[in-house]
Amino acid sequence: MGNVSQKVFSVMHYVANKVQRPAVILLYHRVTTLQQDPQELSVTPVNFNAQLTHLASDYTVLDADRFLYHVKNKKAFPERSVFITFDDGYADNYHEALPILTQREVPALFYITTSKLNTPYELWWDDLERILLTDSNLPPVLKININGRMWQYPTNTLMAIRETYYALQQVLRFCKPDMIDAAMAQLYEWSGKDATGRPSHRLMTWDELKGMNNAAYATIGCHTHRHPAVGMLSYEEQLAEIGKSKEILEGTLGAPQVHFSYPFGGRKFLGSKRYYNADSIKACKELGLQLVTANYYGQVHSWSNPYALPRILVRDWPIDVFRRHMQQFFKY
Ligand SMILES: [Zn+2]
Repeated sequence: MGNVSQKVFSVMHYVANKVQRPAVILLYHRVTTLQQDPQELSVTPVNFNAQLTHLASDYTVLDADRFLYHVKNKKAFPERSVFITFDDGYADNYHEALPILTQREVPALFYITTSKLNTPYELWWDDLERILLTDSNLPPVLKININGRMWQYPTNTLMAIRETYYALQQVLRFCKPDMIDAAMAQLYEWSGKDATGRPSHRLMTWDELKGMNNAAYATIGCHTHRHPAVGMLSYEEQLAEIGKSKEILEGTLGAPQVHFSYPFGGRKFLGSKRYYNADSIKACKELGLQLVTANYYGQVHSWSNPYALPRILVRDWPIDVFRRHMQQFFKY
């Protein structure tokens, strides 16, 4: 804990967790083995299996209905309650995570981004990685128009390319979906690569999504259509982005959707940049969503706001590291 505000938060969490037993929501993205993972969002099947084995034996893992019941009715959680969630809708969730969840009899909620389902296309940050970090044969400079402004990035060394990748990733995450698409089109042209993605980075097909929905240990939730930082959109645009993913999932699965997670979902912001805001919460209520999760550190109590619940990101931790983190998550 490096700075004063972190210490203040730890003390607040510690006191709140003493007042009432907390629940912790874990956030995963992928369970697979990748050649490179610059966002560090993938957990290997071996580590995931060990993590679930530990959760099944030492914690109470709640399914989506049970978790929703406690949040909606403002009821205190059973001791050491954990709720497992996945963001984005990668195909590996179905092929690699689900079999392990089923084998360990541990439930999880899968939030799905709908725009690239059943296509060979990748989500834009993966696409950015594919273009910049999987081929060193790139032009030495990238000039790109983002949102009407020209940017220039060096791409003449591996280090420069890596820095450009991280810089673009920060800029694009606060752009509207059309601007991201326009930036990606320029990157395809500049690199000579097309939009077709890697099979290792695709999202689920319709059949895989339906299979997931029918599985005993999986529940489906919404995660917008095109994965924008909804806090950068007007109220109407938020309603449309969130609403479209809900509509597509309901149409495909034939079941009402009540779960949602904010893309990116951090609570921190830079100047006017927001991942979500008061309009996002209003839009979620308007759409009839009942349990909405964000992505910032914290525990859930009966008094937590069900429209911006904290979640804790799980990394590719070996079991001893995971065990230590889990103990901490319930304390501070
Ligand atoms: Zn996401």
